Amino acid sequence: MKKELVIIGGGPAGLAAAVAAYDAGLRDILILERDERLGGILNQCIHNGFGLHTFREELTGPEYAGRFIKQVEERKISYKLQTMVLELSHDRIITAMNREDGVFQIEAESVVLAMGCRERSRGALNIPGYRPAGIYSAGTAQRLVNMEGLMPGKEVVILGSGDIGLIMARRMTLEGAKVKVVAELMPYSGGLKRNIVQCLQDYDIPLKLSHTVVDIQGKERVEGVTLAKVDEKGKPVPGTEEFYTCDTLLLSVGLLPENELSKKAGIKLNAVTGGPIVDQRLATSMEGVFACGNVLHVHDLVDFVSQEAMLAGKSAAMYVQMQTKDYDQPIALLAGEGVRYTVPAYLVTEEMEEPVTVRFRVTGIKKNCKIVVYQGDVQLLSKKRPVVAPGEMESVLLKKEMLHTKEAIRICVEEG
Ligand SMILES: Cc1cc2nc3c(=O)[nH]c(=O)nc-3n(C[C@H](O)[C@H](O)[C@H](O)COP(=O)(O)OP(=O)(O)OC[C@H]3O[C@@H](n4cnc5c(N)ncnc54)[C@H](O)[C@@H]3O)c2cc1C
Repeated sequence: MKKELVIIGGGPAGLAAAVAAYDAGLRDILILERDERLGGILNQCIHNGFGLHTFREELTGPEYAGRFIKQVEERKISYKLQTMVLELSHDRIITAMNREDGVFQIEAESVVLAMGCRERSRGALNIPGYRPAGIYSAGTAQRLVNMEGLMPGKEVVILGSGDIGLIMARRMTLEGAKVKVVAELMPYSGGLKRNIVQCLQDYDIPLKLSHTVVDIQGKERVEGVTLAKVDEKGKPVPGTEEFYTCDTLLLSVGLLPENELSKKAGIKLNAVTGGPIVDQRLATSMEGVFACGNVLHVHDLVDFVSQEAMLAGKSAAMYVQMQTKDYDQPIALLAGEGVRYTVPAYLVTEEMEEPVTVRFRVTGIKKNCKIVVYQGDVQLLSKKRPVVAPGEMESVLLKKEMLHTKEAIRICVEEG
């Protein structure tokens, strides 16, 4: 089978990429999704708060996904569900399998990677203790409660205050559980400010910053956990231990972009984000392969996923229609003082018709500061920010007319 565009993953990123590629003139598009329905992780996010930027409405996750699924259906874009992509070769041959077709291959002229991310597990944390029942990743607990109608437990401790941990603190409370505490290793929460207020403060759930789980008690089932304060290096401080009885420990300790396919295909990855290194078209290091959504870098808001994915879909369509090529000397985009990473990682100015949105995350909370962009010694722009935090993605807009040399561009956070 041959296809002009194959999209791997039918979550919000894959759906928006498909719609944009279609609207840019491509017709021969196929979405491959391993789950039994389109919509990705949004299907289990039944809380509201989605789509404020895109639709100026507060939608639930399934409602937001539904809007894009409708657009895919209206355009009659084809998709295969319960279809797992097993391999992407360096010449864009995709190997996938499902019950009807068995193992099959597709020769794709272009590919959009939209595989999302998965949760970091307990194994990655080295928490001592037995392996009792009652330890779940927050996303698994969310799926059990919201999709399978099952309650993981009654007395809960949550480790990790990223958005999933915060959302699950509220969800478990609403379902009748007692959430005793949310512990966070860092001195700040990794989640959105609005989620700290709406999910913890509104329900009087304590948040213990600079704390971690140092022991899990219980052999068959969790009976309690011990928390301790950590020092600046993240090491537990002896004598600060506190015991909490509970039957459930939820871990919300980070998301990892699902890039096994990309890695095997030889696509270059960014060591900080875990996602492919891309230019402003969201083109990866492999010709004709583009990336968007959480597989590229972990997003805070799905609206930004959709915006980014539309660009990836449009770029894939342009690649098929015009076979745009790589240019000799792209401009590097560097994470300067106070910035963890930037997406894209470089700019191909010859292809820069529209202003480029550069998204990035900061390394720590900073108040009354400014975001400054330099090319060499020249300041390209500066914007004041009352506060920046690692949990909230930042962005700047770069225009072609700002750039006069091929020197690297640096984005920094400076004192305001
Ligand atoms: C618990 C939680 C709460 C959130 N709350 C909010 C919120 O309140 N507001 C907000 O704006 N955003 C929220 N988000 C963020 C938002 O949901 C994500 O940013 C968005 O879903 C990412 O979209 P995606 O398409 O990149 O990834 P996903 O939604 O993860 O979709 C990826 C898809 O790819 C498929 N896939 C992966 N590998 C393969 C393969 N090899 N073959 C075939 N298919 C494959 C997966 O099955 C999946 O369907 C939340 C996220 C989570 C997890």
